[in-house]
Amino acid sequence: MSGDETDNKTPVLMYHEVLDVVERERSVRAMVPLYCLSAHQFRQQMDYLRRHEYGTVTMEDLGAADREEPSTMVGITFDDGLVGNYRFAFPILGEFGFNATVFLVVSRIGNDPRFLDWGQVAEMSAAGILIGSHTMTHRPLETIASDEVFNELHESKSIIEDRIGRPVKHLSLPHGSANDRVLETAREVGYSTICTSDIGTAIRGVNPSVIERIPIVDKDDLRRFARIVELDSRVIRKLARVKRLKSRVKRMIGIETYRKLYRLLFRIRPGHTHGVSRRS
Ligand SMILES: [Zn+2]
Repeated sequence: MSGDETDNKTPVLMYHEVLDVVERERSVRAMVPLYCLSAHQFRQQMDYLRRHEYGTVTMEDLGAADREEPSTMVGITFDDGLVGNYRFAFPILGEFGFNATVFLVVSRIGNDPRFLDWGQVAEMSAAGILIGSHTMTHRPLETIASDEVFNELHESKSIIEDRIGRPVKHLSLPHGSANDRVLETAREVGYSTICTSDIGTAIRGVNPSVIERIPIVDKDDLRRFARIVELDSRVIRKLARVKRLKSRVKRMIGIETYRKLYRLLFRIRPGHTHGVSRRS
């Protein structure tokens, strides 16, 4: 994020889950409550975008080489492929005529009630929601062997392609975890964009394009949401600072310890972080 140069920048919003009963209201949680918005809150945000004449772009549009980036465009992404994406977010997006990109943890689809099933994925895809990969098992790609990285990226891509009958060219990195080897493998496998969890609106590289995003969390009231989509530099810079600090802590104590602390802090069922566990 380059400070005040917000003209022609497209904010790409990172959502996870939208539900009627949010995680914060439960005693035993399946995911970090921050990442679960209420349907009401999500609708208010979409309504804000429409009232302020924003349009939406998918990662396909953003990845296009000759893209135009009018400042009134917003990218909407969902990580993990959770069931509320279909039950709540999808109808609300339809109501406002917006599109979005949904990234699936493929091993979970149809196998875990908290996640989408393939019928729901196919229905959303047919309605114009862009479906991307969030790998097979949601492991941090930096921490696994090269052949495993290849499998995570390649297998997830081909399974989704078989199910929806369309090419899958967009990837979101579990835990935002990547290094040069991961990016190179993603390019070889055929991804044209890669969404990270880094804060910002920068699009780096050509093939694949690496896209920074801005997380939307349950604590964001409408005023703050407005400042985010307007790319208020103070808000974005602060988010980036916090993110850098978290990354530093993660590196210092190791990603596994970091996740354990998170689960303890939010009283999340063992094995889960933001909605997804490793295949154990
Ligand atoms: Zn994820």
